[in-house]
Amino acid sequence: MTIERAVELLADKTDILVFTGAGISTESGIPDFRGPNGVWTKVDPADFTIQRYLASKETRRRSWSMRAHSGVLDAQPNEGHAAVVALWRAGRLLGCVTQNIDGLHVAAGLPESMVVELHGNARETRCVDCGDVTETPEVMARVESGDADPHCRRCGGIIKVDVVFFGEAMPTDEMRRAAAMAHVADAVIAVGSTLSVYPAADIPLLAVENGAPLVIVNQGTTELDGLAAVTIDGSAGEVLGEIAAALV
Ligand code: NAD
Ligand code: ZN
Repeated sequence: MTIERAVELLADKTDILVFTGAGISTESGIPDFRGPNGVWTKVDPADFTIQRYLASKETRRRSWSMRAHSGVLDAQPNEGHAAVVALWRAGRLLGCVTQNIDGLHVAAGLPESMVVELHGNARETRCVDCGDVTETPEVMARVESGDADPHCRRCGGIIKVDVVFFGEAMPTDEMRRAAAMAHVADAVIAVGSTLSVYPAADIPLLAVENGAPLVIVNQGTTELDGLAAVTIDGSAGEVLGEIAAALV
């Protein structure tokens, strides 16, 4: 059994780095990008670059409308998020580096100090001109009441959810914190990610280069399967739940 192999390998580890992707949140009802029902099977990623967003009212309108229907802001954490919290409570978690923008690791009960959100958080919206921050649900309420391309209430500038768009730089503090964790982790569990988005996927890679064994929990293959000590093809919630239960 591969879950047993993973548990054996993690049994004496106390600085586990959990690296998560969109697949840990599909069981909360949020679609991933590259899975069989992913967002990219329905829309073209080229439409979601920062350059297009800033240049085109139509792109912004579509982006807000998609967001209104994405369910991200109403989603609740699932068993997979709870399992990461259980690892932390058991004193085994170094930290959780996530590519997700749904805020569900913190909603599940992980302290913010344990979470690195590499691609930002959709719960906040920021003005690209003056930096003013608003809660995204407030902006969504404006969109729903007919303002299809809402602008900053303070300066009139373009506003965008506080997540990293294609073509945007990664947040430097978060990348630094994640890399620091990758250097000292004694094991890494990658969950629900194709491990194909860079530079985010450099983080598990860096941990492996520093000698940490890699456990992959993902439905389908990932780009780092060849480097893994154990790969488990299964549901993030079930598999992580079993692993955490065996380790606490
Ligand atoms: P991805 O879409 O490239 O890959 C997700 C992987 O998870 C796929 O291989 C899929 O088969 C697998 N998967 C789906 N449901 C699963 C489940 N229940 N259990 C186990 N595996 C499951 O995701 P990625 O690697 O995170 O890259 C996508 C990018 O999109 C990220 O950078 C992230 O910022 C963003 N994104 C975030 C969210 C979110 O915040 N929830 C949702 C969609 C996309
Ligand atoms: Zn502004």
